[in-house]
Amino acid sequence: MLEKVLIANRGEIALRILRACKELGIKTVAVHSTVDRNLKHVLLADETICIGPAPSPQSYLNIPALIAAAEVTNAQAIHPGYGFLAERADFAQQVEESGLVFIGPRPESIRLMGDKVSAIEAMKKAGVPCVPGSDGAVGDDDEVNKAIAKRIGYPIIVKAAGGGGGRGMRVVRSEDELVESIAMTKNEAGTAFGNDMVYMEKFLENPRHIEIQVLADGQGNAIHLGERDCSMQRRHQKVVEEAPAPGITQELRNFIGGRCVQACIDLNYRGAGTFEFLFEDGEFYFIEMNTRIQVEHPVTEMITGVDLIKEQLRIASGMPLSIKQSDIVIRGHAVECRINAEDAKTFIPSPGTITRFHPPGGNGVRWDSHIYADYTVPPNYDSMVGKLITYGENRDIAIARMRNALSELLVGGIKTNIELHKLIMTDENFNKGGTNIHYLEHKLGLK
Ligand code: ADP
Repeated sequence: MLEKVLIANRGEIALRILRACKELGIKTVAVHSTVDRNLKHVLLADETICIGPAPSPQSYLNIPALIAAAEVTNAQAIHPGYGFLAERADFAQQVEESGLVFIGPRPESIRLMGDKVSAIEAMKKAGVPCVPGSDGAVGDDDEVNKAIAKRIGYPIIVKAAGGGGGRGMRVVRSEDELVESIAMTKNEAGTAFGNDMVYMEKFLENPRHIEIQVLADGQGNAIHLGERDCSMQRRHQKVVEEAPAPGITQELRNFIGGRCVQACIDLNYRGAGTFEFLFEDGEFYFIEMNTRIQVEHPVTEMITGVDLIKEQLRIASGMPLSIKQSDIVIRGHAVECRINAEDAKTFIPSPGTITRFHPPGGNGVRWDSHIYADYTVPPNYDSMVGKLITYGENRDIAIARMRNALSELLVGGIKTNIELHKLIMTDENFNKGGTNIHYLEHKLGLK
């Protein structure tokens, strides 16, 4: 087992990683920017190092500072969390070239999945169902492109190969918009991602977002841990997640999970990962793979009993998977609400000092957060301040517990989106289950 791990992140995920390390007897090094000295995990870590000023390019994205911090503290490995450098192949590579362990996939896997065109190609080879599309990047011949779009059938979506965060996409509803849309998306992609390669896909009108969690040890073993439904979104950002996904049968789960496992084996994938799909009319369509731990991983932990971060640490220590597919039994239901420091109606971020704080509790309630009374949320980073997760023997109980927990949670001094979550948890259609990715924006009158 690794002896000392540097946590290259902040906020709730840094605390989550610290907790897992402590349970496994691993020493921790917390790195932080100058405004993050009072982060909960920094106060609890064995060693701490300030790596730079508040702006993330100079601290949490500063690769030489992170590697130097690992070297001076004799940390053996770096856990990137999510966001920041978690999906940067060059970071993983530099970590490994420095003789450290990167707690995540091999750099080649991150690179392959970071380019959506190569990711889709690899998925097709492995038998993972993809959205019908251009089968590769589009070229410069307008007539050829028109023919491809016609074959796919309108509406289509033009997407940047290097896109991310919901940017670099354009829906095209008829042939007369096609040429200009491709040119504009290429232009934007070149500026935003330094890669102007774009491709075309059938645009699915009313899909749900369903994703499969996997674990692989890079030694030939891979398993899936079922699915999560993350359809409750605003601006392509997930707001509420749950597991399992309403209406997904064990048969369908086995089918799609099996395909993802096969892809992991074919790619010799190592670590935790998520295959994201759009789901429409009973069919799954792969859109991308995330080669890291995700924000919403706790809902899977609650229904499987597997600690995904501890598994990441075991895999990075060179151990084979400790669990087999047949060990994965899905029990009950879990829901997660992302609690953000923002206005519940306008979504404008609301950093500042938390004056009063009371976390919810009770049976089946999990609160993953770094905040406390007198803690100041800095304006420099993501506005998520915590994740409230509830578990129940079934979906109705999990949601009822979430309603209770939201009414108990008290965060004073800053604005939060707790009221938005109360609205969702009492929504009739959410309670029925299976709403699509546009539902929340329609409900809020944003579309
Ligand atoms: P990103 O890497 O920017 O998150 P994704 O490929 O995961 O990009 O797509 C983000 C979102 O864009 C999806 O969750 C979905 O809402 C929408 N989207 C992407 N591809 C399609 C498609 N083919 N049809 C309909 N919506 C799509």
